[in-house]
Amino acid sequence: MNQLSTEETRDTHPWNAQGEIDASGLESWVQSRLARQREQIDTLLAVQGEKTLANTLRPYDDAVATLSATGSLASLLDSVYPDKAVRDKARELTQAVSEAATALSLNQEVYRALAAMDVSSADPGTTHYVSQTLLNYRLAGVDKDDATRAHLRQLSDKATEIALTFAKHVQENVNRVEVRDAAELEGLPEDYIRNHPADEHGVITLTTDFPDMQPVMTFARSADLRLRMFRAYNTRAYPANRQLLLDLLAVRQETATILGFRSWADLATANQMMGSAANMKKFIGELEVASRQGAVQEYEMVLEFARKQQPGLTNLKSSDRGFWYEQYRREAFDFDSQSVRPFFPYAPVEQGILETAARLFHVSFKPNKEAPVWHPQVSAWDVYDRGQLCGRFYLDMHPREGKDKWFSAAPLIPGVAGRQLPEVALICNFPGGKSDDPGLMQYSDVVTFFHEFGHLMHAILGGQQKWAGISGIATEGDFVEVPSQMLEEFFHDARLLASFARHYQTGEPIPPALVERMNRASAFGRADGVRTQLFYTSYSLDVHNQPPENLDPDQLLEEGYKRMMPYEWVEGNRMYASFTHLIGYTSNYYTYMFDKVIALDFFRQFDHSDLLDGPTAMRYRQSILEPGGSKPGTQLIEDFLGRQQTMDAFAAWVGEEFAGASGKGSNGVGHTA
Ligand SMILES: [Zn+2]
Repeated sequence: MNQLSTEETRDTHPWNAQGEIDASGLESWVQSRLARQREQIDTLLAVQGEKTLANTLRPYDDAVATLSATGSLASLLDSVYPDKAVRDKARELTQAVSEAATALSLNQEVYRALAAMDVSSADPGTTHYVSQTLLNYRLAGVDKDDATRAHLRQLSDKATEIALTFAKHVQENVNRVEVRDAAELEGLPEDYIRNHPADEHGVITLTTDFPDMQPVMTFARSADLRLRMFRAYNTRAYPANRQLLLDLLAVRQETATILGFRSWADLATANQMMGSAANMKKFIGELEVASRQGAVQEYEMVLEFARKQQPGLTNLKSSDRGFWYEQYRREAFDFDSQSVRPFFPYAPVEQGILETAARLFHVSFKPNKEAPVWHPQVSAWDVYDRGQLCGRFYLDMHPREGKDKWFSAAPLIPGVAGRQLPEVALICNFPGGKSDDPGLMQYSDVVTFFHEFGHLMHAILGGQQKWAGISGIATEGDFVEVPSQMLEEFFHDARLLASFARHYQTGEPIPPALVERMNRASAFGRADGVRTQLFYTSYSLDVHNQPPENLDPDQLLEEGYKRMMPYEWVEGNRMYASFTHLIGYTSNYYTYMFDKVIALDFFRQFDHSDLLDGPTAMRYRQSILEPGGSKPGTQLIEDFLGRQQTMDAFAAWVGEEFAGASGKGSNGVGHTA
């Protein structure tokens, strides 16, 4: 793996030694892997007599590994490859791999063979894997008759097709905002204005790509520019995705009904820690109550402040929220978030986060210049644990035309101990990546980087399992956002930040007093942040928890917004059309808040005066990251905490926010994103 020959590279990865691939090469690579997967299943089915882990689970897991890596790598190319013809082919092949996975999930012969294995003397990880696999077979409908299973396959294939098209629209649809009067950019950072010169007609064009959009919403003094940007951003992929969403919801509901569930939300939580849509509702209700008063108080403080600046202002719109929070924080906490941007140029931040993770988790990273990558902006890194190579990751961190627009960690190859090493890619849209732009990041960008790196470490350190099916982040879906949100908390440590956050012009490390003000200021807005997450959470549940025939996604969005948020609803907000979490997380967006509660409980276990070098990090690595998906989430939690999680750390975190305004100061944990 360290010294991959070209032959090996071609077998495990679709691209050649230069990282290049064309559509027909990709087609034949995927088809050969699908053929291999069929052979692996045939091997399993050919077993006569006693079914064992060696003769049945091993070939099954080989097929799972093949499908997983093939689907993930095809999907990666769909998200990032520069050539559109390859992206289109990759999307088509992602569909083909998904269809093969669905066929496997409904294959009765395979199910019977797996169910016939004697696992009484197997290790706990293997037992857990087999029981989860059999449960998922039943949830997929393996017990149904031939005609019903054929119909379920059709529905699943249709859902995949709609989902891929929905995502493609979001990826390829960039809206533009024209600025004809440069005065509208007032308030934005100088480097931002410098990077957006006017064309020969005097027009400045801003896109809805994240590094263009986010500073406008935070800093632009022009309410009209903010409103135009808000509308442009929240109408991406509209109207095309409205109908696609309705079609997808109908397919999901029909699937749930056939499988005996009242709604898709009940089906999608049946194999999760949450268990049911009713539990989810209860969870949302508790957080709604816990955050209500704080959010009202915050809104009133910000509105009153805004009125002093603009007498006659009656209320604030959703498009005003980021700007007025920023202005309020400047006044109340003496913190201007532009003042930290010069300390966060992209390249040193990347280096700093890598060094932090390496020290924390006792691993080392080495850039691998030989490993083929799909674009010159991408870097490849090898991970070493106690001197042993244990995985590889790729960083694809800046926007490009046609590239996916969001921030994610994409596991590419599931690690299997002694057989194959895990690989994972970060696909992000941070500022920078151009030679004339230092890529100054907002502090929330840096938090996002920590978040995605938390997923990455989970995939690598959890990727040393016996089986691909329990490798890396293959926990219950609603545990997946724990390691990512846990790592976010490290962002607030002043000593840690000073180790890499240096002014891009002077080299001065970020002053501890500035970090303290940043932490206090960013704590303000937590209740509002919780409610924003609850708004997304409720929407994801609501659209998946009622008959889709009469569902109006616009009406639900507006009602949900008004129920949860104090800001004035902006007419024409079609946020759902680009809300890709509805594709991947379906009804289960609650995962973020559910896991935030757990992550904060975990973070409390660390020695906050010695975050990096205390013994807790290694204990966390061993009990949470290394087991991957070999244990239920509840067990992982108990192994680390010695008890189940409680709301205490979360409640304290939300409660901290008003402490800062009176000058008392928080202990510097948490943020609002
Ligand atoms: Zn995440």
